[in-house]
Amino acid sequence: MVRPMAERKPLIVGNWKMFHGGASGCELAVELRRSLADIDKVDLVVAPPFTALAAVAHELDGSRIQVAAQNTHFEASGAYTGEVSCQMLLESGCSWTLVGHSERRQHFSDTDESVGLKVKSALAAGLLPIACVGETLEQREAGTTLDVVHRQVDAIIDAIGESSAEPGLTTIAYEPIWAIGTGKVAGPEQAQEVHAAIRARLARDSTQLSEITRILYGGSVKPGNSASLMACTDIDGALVGGASLNAESFANIARSSG
Ligand code: PEP
Repeated sequence: MVRPMAERKPLIVGNWKMFHGGASGCELAVELRRSLADIDKVDLVVAPPFTALAAVAHELDGSRIQVAAQNTHFEASGAYTGEVSCQMLLESGCSWTLVGHSERRQHFSDTDESVGLKVKSALAAGLLPIACVGETLEQREAGTTLDVVHRQVDAIIDAIGESSAEPGLTTIAYEPIWAIGTGKVAGPEQAQEVHAAIRARLARDSTQLSEITRILYGGSVKPGNSASLMACTDIDGALVGGASLNAESFANIARSSG
């Protein structure tokens, strides 16, 4: 299992969503391997769809790019048609998994409770969870951003506390829903404010947890805006959707983050 660095090495994660099956996913993996070969100051992860995981992991074997799933189930096995367990993801070559992405919360009934169970289950299996939080536009306009994000983060902190895993293995991704896939990026100050609040919330549980947990920003990150976001004190990397589907733009984001 990859250990997070005490100094919070930047982490850039590409979420391919429901794009790129095995064939085109492998082509993209080959390009990424070439484009990212010289980048060593940043940890790199890509999250292809389930069906492409094993092939992409095989293509990236021996490179510095690791593979994540986009979701997992919290049970180890059972009659859960259509679901995939953490152990199965490990067997497919994953070392990470996204958990509670807003598209899962919005369309597939993920809740704070199921996100907590998934974080616990991933940690128990030896898979590194990247747990997503973030507010809707309505919540931001109503001034409840921090209440919403605190509630989501508390469920993740509880899950970490209930697991016997060492601190720092869980990454949190702050993704304002109004910024995902919309081209509307949160400004660096807007993002930093929420990241600092998340880190303060982690510190209520443990100073060590708050110091070593990586908090990523996600929401319309592009090569043109990544450097100013990554310069913020509490932003430790990015979860990138659209711009991760092109090797050059993903590499440029990674280059601007190290
Ligand atoms: C995402 O899918 O998590 C995401 C942030 O998407 P985009 O970068 O396209 O906004």
